[in-house]
Amino acid sequence: MSSQPPPYQLYPVTVKSSRWVTPHMKRITIDGGCLSGLRTALPAQWFKVFVPAQDGQRSGGRAYTVRRYDPATGQLDIDFVLHGDSGPVSAWAERVQVGGGFEISDVHPRSGFSIEPGTEDYLLFGDETGLPAIGAILEALPASARAQVFAEIAHAGEAQELTSRATLSVTWLHRDGAATAASMLLEAVARSVDIPTRATVIWVAAESTQVAAIRRLLLKERGVDRTMLHATGYWKRGEADHRDEEA
Ligand SMILES: Cc1cc2nc3c(=O)[nH]c(=O)nc-3n(C[C@H](O)[C@H](O)[C@H](O)COP(=O)(O)OP(=O)(O)OC[C@H]3O[C@@H](n4cnc5c(N)ncnc54)[C@H](O)[C@@H]3O)c2cc1C
Repeated sequence: MSSQPPPYQLYPVTVKSSRWVTPHMKRITIDGGCLSGLRTALPAQWFKVFVPAQDGQRSGGRAYTVRRYDPATGQLDIDFVLHGDSGPVSAWAERVQVGGGFEISDVHPRSGFSIEPGTEDYLLFGDETGLPAIGAILEALPASARAQVFAEIAHAGEAQELTSRATLSVTWLHRDGAATAASMLLEAVARSVDIPTRATVIWVAAESTQVAAIRRLLLKERGVDRTMLHATGYWKRGEADHRDEEA
Protein backbone atom coordinates (compact mmCIF):
# COMPACT_ATOMS: atom_id res chain seq x y z
CA MET A 1 0.00 0.00 0.00
CA SER A 2 1.19 3.50 -0.69
CA SER A 3 0.12 6.92 0.43
CA GLN A 4 2.49 8.56 -2.06
CA PRO A 5 0.81 9.42 -5.36
CA PRO A 6 2.70 8.03 -8.37
CA PRO A 7 4.66 10.50 -10.52
CA TYR A 8 2.01 10.52 -13.25
CA GLN A 9 -1.61 11.50 -13.51
CA LEU A 10 -4.34 9.22 -12.21
CA TYR A 11 -7.92 9.29 -13.44
CA PRO A 12 -10.86 8.45 -11.14
CA VAL A 13 -13.27 5.94 -12.71
CA THR A 14 -16.27 3.94 -11.54
CA VAL A 15 -17.50 0.46 -12.29
CA LYS A 16 -20.32 0.85 -14.85
CA SER A 17 -21.04 -2.86 -15.08
CA SER A 18 -19.41 -6.18 -14.38
CA ARG A 19 -19.84 -9.78 -15.40
CA TRP A 20 -18.16 -13.09 -14.85
CA VAL A 21 -16.19 -14.25 -17.88
CA THR A 22 -15.38 -17.47 -16.01
CA PRO A 23 -15.58 -18.37 -12.30
CA HIS A 24 -12.15 -16.76 -11.71
CA MET A 25 -12.21 -13.93 -14.20
CA LYS A 26 -14.36 -10.84 -13.73
CA ARG A 27 -14.89 -8.28 -16.49
CA ILE A 28 -15.31 -4.72 -15.25
CA THR A 29 -16.51 -2.03 -17.64
CA ILE A 30 -15.57 1.60 -17.09
CA ASP A 31 -15.79 4.82 -19.06
CA GLY A 32 -12.35 4.94 -20.67
CA GLY A 33 -12.86 8.32 -22.34
CA CYS A 34 -10.39 9.89 -19.88
CA LEU A 35 -7.45 8.05 -21.46
CA SER A 36 -5.66 10.17 -24.02
CA GLY A 37 -2.97 7.64 -24.92
CA LEU A 38 -5.27 4.87 -26.19
CA ARG A 39 -4.60 3.81 -29.76
CA THR A 40 -7.57 1.76 -30.82
CA ALA A 41 -5.70 -0.19 -33.49
CA LEU A 42 -3.07 -1.41 -31.03
CA PRO A 43 -4.16 -4.43 -28.96
CA ALA A 44 -2.69 -5.39 -25.57
CA GLN A 45 -2.09 -1.85 -24.33
CA TRP A 46 -2.01 -1.65 -20.57
CA PHE A 47 -2.29 0.80 -17.73
CA LYS A 48 -1.99 0.77 -13.96
CA VAL A 49 -4.96 0.14 -11.70
CA PHE A 50 -5.03 1.62 -8.19
CA VAL A 51 -7.76 0.47 -5.84
CA PRO A 52 -8.92 1.90 -2.51
CA ALA A 53 -7.15 0.40 0.48
CA GLN A 54 -8.74 -0.18 3.86
CA ASP A 55 -6.71 2.59 5.49
CA GLY A 56 -8.30 5.12 3.15
CA GLN A 57 -5.16 5.30 0.99
CA ARG A 58 -4.72 3.66 -2.40
CA SER A 59 -3.03 0.39 -3.26
CA GLY A 60 0.19 0.43 -5.23
CA GLY A 61 -0.57 0.28 -8.96
CA ARG A 62 -0.79 -3.02 -10.83
CA ALA A 63 -0.69 -3.47 -14.60
CA TYR A 64 -3.93 -4.43 -16.39
CA THR A 65 -4.71 -4.83 -20.06
CA VAL A 66 -7.23 -2.95 -22.15
CA ARG A 67 -9.32 -5.99 -23.02
CA ARG A 68 -11.61 -4.02 -25.31
CA TYR A 69 -12.29 -0.36 -25.98
CA ASP A 70 -15.28 0.95 -27.91
CA PRO A 71 -14.51 4.45 -29.18
CA ALA A 72 -18.18 5.03 -30.00
CA THR A 73 -19.33 4.63 -26.39
CA GLY A 74 -16.04 5.17 -24.54
CA GLN A 75 -16.63 1.86 -22.76
CA LEU A 76 -13.50 0.01 -21.74
CA ASP A 77 -13.37 -3.57 -20.43
CA ILE A 78 -10.77 -4.86 -17.99
CA ASP A 79 -10.62 -8.59 -17.20
CA PHE A 80 -9.42 -9.24 -13.65
CA VAL A 81 -8.01 -12.66 -12.76
CA LEU A 82 -9.24 -13.48 -9.25
CA HIS A 83 -6.34 -15.27 -7.63
CA GLY A 84 -7.44 -14.89 -4.02
CA ASP A 85 -7.04 -12.36 -1.26
CA SER A 86 -3.24 -12.19 -1.32
CA GLY A 87 -3.27 -9.28 -3.76
CA PRO A 88 -5.08 -6.01 -3.07
CA VAL A 89 -6.31 -5.60 -6.63
CA SER A 90 -7.57 -9.16 -7.02
CA ALA A 91 -9.32 -8.98 -3.63
CA TRP A 92 -10.92 -5.64 -4.51
CA ALA A 93 -12.04 -6.79 -7.96
CA GLU A 94 -13.75 -9.83 -6.52
CA ARG A 95 -15.88 -7.73 -4.19
CA VAL A 96 -16.46 -4.47 -6.03
CA GLN A 97 -19.98 -3.61 -7.15
CA VAL A 98 -21.37 -1.31 -9.83
CA GLY A 99 -20.64 2.28 -8.76
CA GLY A 100 -17.42 1.34 -6.96
CA GLY A 101 -14.64 3.83 -7.56
CA PHE A 102 -10.96 3.33 -8.33
CA GLU A 103 -8.18 5.04 -10.27
CA ILE A 104 -6.25 4.28 -13.42
CA SER A 105 -3.18 5.73 -15.09
CA ASP A 106 -3.12 6.53 -18.78
CA VAL A 107 -2.01 3.66 -21.01
CA HIS A 108 1.71 3.04 -20.93
CA PRO A 109 3.14 4.89 -23.95
CA ARG A 110 5.26 1.94 -25.11
CA SER A 111 2.58 -0.69 -24.51
CA GLY A 112 0.62 -2.52 -27.17
CA PHE A 113 1.27 -5.12 -29.82
CA SER A 114 1.90 -3.99 -33.40
CA ILE A 115 0.41 -6.17 -36.10
CA GLU A 116 2.81 -6.03 -39.02
CA PRO A 117 1.30 -6.59 -42.47
CA GLY A 118 4.00 -9.12 -43.43
CA THR A 119 3.41 -11.43 -40.48
CA GLU A 120 1.33 -14.48 -41.34
CA ASP A 121 1.56 -16.76 -38.31
CA TYR A 122 1.07 -15.99 -34.66
CA LEU A 123 1.84 -18.32 -31.77
CA LEU A 124 0.32 -16.89 -28.60
CA PHE A 125 1.16 -18.41 -25.22
CA GLY A 126 -0.41 -17.28 -21.97
CA ASP A 127 -1.83 -18.11 -18.59
CA GLU A 128 -5.01 -16.45 -17.30
CA THR A 129 -3.29 -13.05 -16.93
CA GLY A 130 -2.22 -13.15 -20.59
CA LEU A 131 -5.70 -14.01 -21.86
CA PRO A 132 -7.05 -10.43 -21.94
CA ALA A 133 -4.17 -9.43 -24.23
CA ILE A 134 -4.48 -12.60 -26.30
CA GLY A 135 -8.20 -11.94 -26.73
CA ALA A 136 -7.51 -8.38 -27.87
CA ILE A 137 -4.71 -9.43 -30.25
CA LEU A 138 -6.92 -12.10 -31.82
CA GLU A 139 -9.72 -9.59 -32.39
CA ALA A 140 -7.26 -7.26 -34.16
CA LEU A 141 -5.70 -9.84 -36.52
CA PRO A 142 -6.61 -9.76 -40.21
CA ALA A 143 -8.44 -12.63 -41.90
CA SER A 144 -5.26 -13.53 -43.78
CA ALA A 145 -3.40 -14.43 -40.54
CA ARG A 146 -3.18 -17.78 -38.80
CA ALA A 147 -3.14 -17.86 -35.00
CA GLN A 148 -2.43 -20.69 -32.62
CA VAL A 149 -3.23 -20.03 -28.95
CA PHE A 150 -1.85 -22.12 -26.09
CA ALA A 151 -3.60 -21.06 -22.91
CA GLU A 152 -2.89 -22.46 -19.49
CA ILE A 153 -5.90 -22.38 -17.16
CA ALA A 154 -6.83 -23.97 -13.83
CA HIS A 155 -9.37 -26.39 -15.31
CA ALA A 156 -11.84 -26.73 -18.17
CA GLY A 157 -14.32 -24.37 -16.46
CA GLU A 158 -11.90 -21.46 -16.94
CA ALA A 159 -11.91 -21.71 -20.76
CA GLN A 160 -13.46 -18.68 -22.43
CA GLU A 161 -14.66 -17.86 -25.91
CA LEU A 162 -11.95 -16.38 -28.13
CA THR A 163 -12.81 -15.01 -31.55
CA SER A 164 -10.81 -13.78 -34.51
CA ARG A 165 -11.13 -13.12 -38.21
CA ALA A 166 -7.84 -15.04 -38.52
CA THR A 167 -7.75 -18.81 -38.88
CA LEU A 168 -7.67 -19.76 -35.23
CA SER A 169 -6.83 -22.82 -33.19
CA VAL A 170 -6.99 -22.73 -29.41
CA THR A 171 -5.45 -25.35 -27.12
CA TRP A 172 -6.50 -25.16 -23.47
CA LEU A 173 -3.92 -26.61 -21.09
CA HIS A 174 -5.46 -27.54 -17.74
CA ARG A 175 -3.39 -27.40 -14.56
CA ASP A 176 -5.98 -29.57 -12.84
CA GLY A 177 -4.67 -28.92 -9.34
CA ALA A 178 -1.02 -28.16 -10.09
CA ALA A 179 0.19 -24.81 -8.70
CA THR A 180 0.10 -22.00 -11.25
CA ALA A 181 3.76 -21.11 -11.12
CA ALA A 182 4.99 -24.70 -10.90
CA SER A 183 3.23 -25.74 -14.09
CA MET A 184 5.40 -26.69 -17.06
CA LEU A 185 2.50 -26.95 -19.50
CA LEU A 186 3.36 -23.93 -21.62
CA GLU A 187 7.05 -24.78 -21.63
CA ALA A 188 6.27 -28.30 -22.82
CA VAL A 189 4.31 -26.90 -25.76
CA ALA A 190 7.08 -24.42 -26.57
CA ARG A 191 9.50 -27.35 -26.69
CA SER A 192 7.46 -29.42 -29.13
CA VAL A 193 5.26 -27.09 -31.19
CA ASP A 194 5.90 -26.80 -34.92
CA ILE A 195 7.12 -23.28 -35.51
CA PRO A 196 6.02 -22.19 -38.99
CA THR A 197 8.88 -21.22 -41.29
CA ARG A 198 6.78 -18.39 -42.73
CA ALA A 199 6.88 -14.93 -41.12
CA THR A 200 5.97 -15.76 -37.55
CA VAL A 201 5.58 -13.88 -34.29
CA ILE A 202 5.62 -15.62 -30.92
CA TRP A 203 3.99 -13.77 -28.01
CA VAL A 204 4.19 -15.04 -24.42
CA ALA A 205 2.73 -13.68 -21.15
CA ALA A 206 2.45 -15.70 -17.95
CA GLU A 207 4.19 -16.20 -14.59
CA SER A 208 7.64 -14.66 -14.80
CA THR A 209 9.75 -17.74 -14.00
CA GLN A 210 7.86 -19.74 -16.61
CA VAL A 211 8.27 -16.99 -19.18
CA ALA A 212 12.02 -16.81 -18.54
CA ALA A 213 12.28 -20.58 -19.13
CA ILE A 214 10.21 -20.38 -22.32
CA ARG A 215 12.23 -17.40 -23.59
CA ARG A 216 15.49 -19.30 -23.03
CA LEU A 217 14.13 -22.43 -24.66
CA LEU A 218 12.82 -20.67 -27.74
CA LEU A 219 15.97 -18.59 -28.28
CA LYS A 220 18.65 -21.13 -27.37
CA GLU A 221 17.15 -24.53 -28.21
CA ARG A 222 14.55 -23.74 -30.87
CA GLY A 223 16.61 -21.10 -32.68
CA VAL A 224 13.84 -18.52 -32.69
CA ASP A 225 14.98 -15.12 -33.92
CA ARG A 226 14.95 -12.65 -31.01
CA THR A 227 13.05 -10.08 -33.09
CA MET A 228 10.15 -12.54 -33.53
CA LEU A 229 9.71 -13.09 -29.81
CA HIS A 230 7.71 -10.94 -27.38
CA ALA A 231 7.87 -12.62 -23.96
CA THR A 232 6.88 -10.87 -20.74
CA GLY A 233 6.40 -12.05 -17.16
CA TYR A 234 3.02 -10.71 -16.08
CA TRP A 235 3.37 -11.70 -12.41
CA LYS A 236 5.79 -13.62 -10.22
CA ARG A 237 5.05 -16.26 -7.65
CA GLY A 238 5.55 -14.92 -4.10
CA GLU A 239 6.27 -11.38 -5.25
CA ALA A 240 3.75 -8.55 -4.99
CA ASP A 241 3.78 -5.95 -7.76
CA HIS A 242 6.32 -7.81 -9.87
CA ARG A 243 7.73 -5.81 -12.78
CA ASP A 244 9.32 -7.68 -15.63
CA GLU A 245 11.88 -5.62 -17.53
CA GLU A 246 9.91 -6.01 -20.74
CA ALA A 247 6.54 -5.01 -19.23
C1 LIG B 1 1.60 -5.71 -18.99
C2 LIG B 1 0.73 -6.50 -18.00
C3 LIG B 1 -0.61 -6.67 -18.24
C4 LIG B 1 -1.41 -7.40 -17.34
N1 LIG B 1 -2.74 -7.56 -17.60
C5 LIG B 1 -3.53 -8.22 -16.72
C6 LIG B 1 -4.93 -8.34 -16.95
O1 LIG B 1 -5.51 -7.82 -17.91
N2 LIG B 1 -5.65 -9.06 -16.03
C7 LIG B 1 -5.06 -9.61 -14.91
O2 LIG B 1 -5.78 -10.21 -14.11
N3 LIG B 1 -3.75 -9.50 -14.68
C8 LIG B 1 -2.98 -8.80 -15.54
N4 LIG B 1 -1.65 -8.65 -15.29
C9 LIG B 1 -1.08 -9.30 -14.09
C10 LIG B 1 -1.34 -8.47 -12.82
O3 LIG B 1 -0.72 -7.17 -12.95
C11 LIG B 1 -0.70 -9.21 -11.62
O4 LIG B 1 -1.29 -10.47 -11.46
C12 LIG B 1 -0.74 -8.42 -10.33
O5 LIG B 1 0.25 -8.94 -9.48
C13 LIG B 1 -2.09 -8.50 -9.62
O6 LIG B 1 -2.05 -7.62 -8.49
P1 LIG B 1 -2.63 -8.05 -7.08
O7 LIG B 1 -2.76 -6.82 -6.27
O8 LIG B 1 -3.83 -8.92 -7.25
O9 LIG B 1 -1.47 -9.00 -6.49
P2 LIG B 1 0.00 -8.57 -5.93
O10 LIG B 1 -0.12 -7.72 -4.71
O11 LIG B 1 0.82 -8.02 -7.04
O12 LIG B 1 0.60 -10.00 -5.51
C14 LIG B 1 0.21 -10.62 -4.27
C15 LIG B 1 0.53 -12.10 -4.34
O13 LIG B 1 -0.33 -12.69 -5.32
C16 LIG B 1 0.45 -13.44 -6.26
N5 LIG B 1 -0.20 -13.28 -7.59
C17 LIG B 1 -0.27 -12.17 -8.37
N6 LIG B 1 -0.93 -12.43 -9.51
C18 LIG B 1 -1.29 -13.74 -9.47
C19 LIG B 1 -1.99 -14.61 -10.35
N7 LIG B 1 -2.49 -14.19 -11.52
N8 LIG B 1 -2.18 -15.89 -9.96
C20 LIG B 1 -1.71 -16.34 -8.78
N9 LIG B 1 -1.02 -15.58 -7.89
C21 LIG B 1 -0.81 -14.29 -8.25
C22 LIG B 1 1.85 -12.82 -6.20
O14 LIG B 1 2.83 -13.78 -6.55
C23 LIG B 1 1.97 -12.40 -4.75
O15 LIG B 1 2.41 -13.48 -3.95
C24 LIG B 1 -0.82 -7.95 -16.17
C25 LIG B 1 0.53 -7.74 -15.92
C26 LIG B 1 1.31 -7.04 -16.82
C27 LIG B 1 2.79 -6.83 -16.53
